[in-house]
Amino acid sequence: MTGNSELFIHALETKNLELLKQVPKSDLHNHGPLGSRLSELRKHTGKAIPPPPNSFVDINDLNKYIFTHLKEYIVSKDGRELAMKLAFMQAKEDGVSKLEMSIDCLFLLFNEFDVAAFGQFLIDTHQSVAPEIDYNPEIGFARDMDVKDAERTIIPLIESGYFKSIDLYGNELVKDAKEYINIYRTAEKYNLKLKAHSGEFGSAESVRETIELLHLNEVQHGISIADDKEVMNWVRNNNIRLNVCPSSNVILGRSKDIANHQARVLYDNGVDITINSDDIILFNQSVSEEYLNLYTAGTFTASELNIIRERGLN
Ligand SMILES: [Zn+2]
Repeated sequence: MTGNSELFIHALETKNLELLKQVPKSDLHNHGPLGSRLSELRKHTGKAIPPPPNSFVDINDLNKYIFTHLKEYIVSKDGRELAMKLAFMQAKEDGVSKLEMSIDCLFLLFNEFDVAAFGQFLIDTHQSVAPEIDYNPEIGFARDMDVKDAERTIIPLIESGYFKSIDLYGNELVKDAKEYINIYRTAEKYNLKLKAHSGEFGSAESVRETIELLHLNEVQHGISIADDKEVMNWVRNNNIRLNVCPSSNVILGRSKDIANHQARVLYDNGVDITINSDDIILFNQSVSEEYLNLYTAGTFTASELNIIRERGLN
């Protein structure tokens, strides 16, 4: 066992969050501008931004909070630059050593469609704040976007060669995955890692269908497959990874609580899962805190969580 593994297990067993932060870990499901603490955004903007509610009914409810209270800090040039900087600072503070943090393709619109400037902004922010983090820029887009608009915006970004992965999010029940085949085939041609949100609100069968249609390598959430042994076996046999976010699932009512999170069933069925933050600004839990919560609730042993941590880094 490596020094980091021993340190990680010891930190969990002694519930020492500061020690836990020192151990390298991955965050593979992180929506960039929402990746910092609300307290940090308040501190840096000097604005009294109201806290999010303790629970959200669904993605529309979550988006309503974002558009009402956070939009001006994210959409403006200064706000967006601050939000991304704070997200890198948060990841660094938490000991995230491998980061796949997405940025929405709509940000390109705010950069007057200048793909190079958009890419350079991410490089500069990463290099100035947290150059020690292995950061893979991820391009993301929402299902609410008109598909033709999404294609016009995201395909030049895929072709720029700057992005290493792609993610699709928003309300997964509004559009069929087949609408995005053109975008995903382009991303596949450019060797991007293919991810999409699925099985957060949708069924186990919809997860399998989305993986097959979009040729996904990884699924963001995917927790609904825990109800379907056959789909779990299929996901495991096809080496599809699920990047799960326990606090997000509890706050959005998709998991009863951390102790009963679907991660346990997925792990027991041999599905490759990782533990991630999703939106720290909304759910207020870092990756280290997610691990500690899973340990404290008795969902996993410290050794099991270390296996999951190590997989995320590979
Ligand atoms: Zn997400």
